[in-house]
Amino acid sequence: MNNFKNYINGEWVAGVAEAPNINPSDTSDVIGLYAQGNQAHAEAAIAAARSAIPRWAFSTPQQRFDVLDAVGNEILARKDEIGRLLSREEGKTLPEGIGETVRAAMIFKFFAGEALRVGGESLPSVRPGVGVEMSREPVGVVGLITPWNFPIAIPAWKIAPALAYGNCVVFKPAELVPGCAWTIAEILSRTALPKGVFNLVMGPGSKVGNTFVNSPQVDAISFTGSQATGQRIIAACAARQAKMQCEMGGKNPMIVLDDADLDVAVNAAVQSAYFSTGQRCTASSRIIVTEGVHDAFVGAVLGKMAKLKIDNAVLPGTDIGPVVDERQLAGNLGYVAKAREEGGNVVGGEAVERATRGFYQLPALVTETTAAMTINREEVFGPVASVIRVKNYDEALAMANDTPFGLSAGIATTSLKYATHFKRHSQAGMVMVNLPTAGVDYHVPFGGRKGSSYGPREQGRYAQEFFTTVKTAYTLA
Ligand code: NDP
Repeated sequence: MNNFKNYINGEWVAGVAEAPNINPSDTSDVIGLYAQGNQAHAEAAIAAARSAIPRWAFSTPQQRFDVLDAVGNEILARKDEIGRLLSREEGKTLPEGIGETVRAAMIFKFFAGEALRVGGESLPSVRPGVGVEMSREPVGVVGLITPWNFPIAIPAWKIAPALAYGNCVVFKPAELVPGCAWTIAEILSRTALPKGVFNLVMGPGSKVGNTFVNSPQVDAISFTGSQATGQRIIAACAARQAKMQCEMGGKNPMIVLDDADLDVAVNAAVQSAYFSTGQRCTASSRIIVTEGVHDAFVGAVLGKMAKLKIDNAVLPGTDIGPVVDERQLAGNLGYVAKAREEGGNVVGGEAVERATRGFYQLPALVTETTAAMTINREEVFGPVASVIRVKNYDEALAMANDTPFGLSAGIATTSLKYATHFKRHSQAGMVMVNLPTAGVDYHVPFGGRKGSSYGPREQGRYAQEFFTTVKTAYTLA
C-alpha cells in the first residue's frame, strides 16, 4: 500500500494518522493511505510560507514562468495516468478525468504566461512635478481550500495564480480526493520553487482548514465548497479583515423556449444535469420549459436518459460514474424521496448495483414541479434535475432568477431577441445560450452572484484582483 505524506517547508511530513482514499466505483480499491494533518501541521505550513515570502514575492517573472510552465507540461505529459487517478478517486468517467487533467495543465500554462504580464499603470499627478504609479504586489500567504468534485482543476485554478502573482501557499484539498492534490505537490516539489513557498496539508476541514481561516498569519483565503462552510469562512475572515474569495453552490436554471432547436436543448440539458454525476456547481438542476414544447422536451430527455450507461467510472463506454460517497448518495436519495412526497413526478433516481461495489444512482428527472418545492430551492449536487412548466419567456425569466443562488444560467432558443434579453437580465455570473450551463473556458473569469459567490472572480486575468494588492506610489520628479 502506498503512503502519501504532507509537504511542509520542502519536506515530506507524516500526519497524526492516515486515511484511506477509496474508489467510489469499487470500494475494495483503496488508492492509498494519505496523511491526516492537524492544527500543528497547519501552523507549521503557515510559518514556512510566511518565512518564504521574501524568496518568492521578489522572484522574477521568468522564475515564476519556469515553475508554472514545467508543472503544466508535466501534467499534460501524464494526463492519462493522472486522469485515471482522478476518475478512481472521484468517480467521474475516464474521458472526464483526463479532460479535467488537461484543463489543469492548461491553467498552469496560462498563468505561466500571466506571470510575465503583471503590469501596472502610471499617471501624471494632479500636482505639478509629481508622478503616480500603480503596481500590483503579492498578497502574502494565501490559504487555499478546495472541494472534492474537481480534484485537479480547482486546486490548479487557485495554486497557479497564487504562485504566478508571487504569493506563498498553504493548501488543503478535500479529504475525499487527496490523490490529485498530492500529485500536484509532488510535481511542484521537483521544480525550482524555493522551500516553503508551497505547502500541502491534507486532513479534516475542521482542523486544517479552520486553522488556515483563523490564522492572523494567513493574509487571504480562497475557498470553493458548500454555502454552509463558505458562510462560516466569510464571517471568520471578515472578523480579522483577511481578504477572501468564496465560490459556493448553485441551483442553476436552464430555460427551454418553444422556438428552441430540440436536439440542442435536450443535449445541453442532459449534459449539464447528469454528466459528472451531476456533481458540478454549474449543473443544470432546474429546467424551465415553456408549455408548447414541454411534453416533446420531457419525452426526448427521458429517451436519452434511458440510454445512459451508469457504471464503474474507468470502464470504456460508461457515461456516468458513481456518486462520490455513501453520505452524498444518501443525501441525493433523500432529495428524490422528498420531491415525490411534495408532489413531483419522479422518473429514475434509484440506487443501483453494478459488478463492482460502489455508490451508483440512476439519473432522476422530476417533472410537474413548482418553484416552492424543496427540489427547486436547495442544491442537491447529484444526478437529479427538475422540470418547471411555464407559459412564456417572461415567466421563465422570473422563475430562473427566483433562487438564492446565481452561478450559471442557460437558455435554449433560436430567438436573438430572447437570447439577448436573457444575457442582460439573468441574475447569474455566467450565462449560456444554446450551451450546457456546465463547461467553461479556462482563460476567462469564473464565478457567480447572490449566494453562490463572494469576493473577486477566479480564473483568467481577473484572478489578479484576488491574488494581488494594489500599491499607489507618488514621486516628486
Ligand atoms: P464542503 O464545504 O463540505 O468542503 C469544501 C472544503 O472545505 C473541503 O476541503 C472541506 O474539508 C473544507 N472545510 C470543511 N469545513 C471547514 C472549516 N470549518 N474550515 C475550513 N475548511 C473547511 O464542500 P464539498 O467538498 O462537499 O463540495 C461540494 C460543494 O462545493 C457544493 O456545494 C458545490 O456547489 C460547491 N462547489 C462550488 C464550486 C464553485 O465554483 N461555485 C465549484 C465546485 C464545487 P474536508 O471535506 O476535507 O473536511
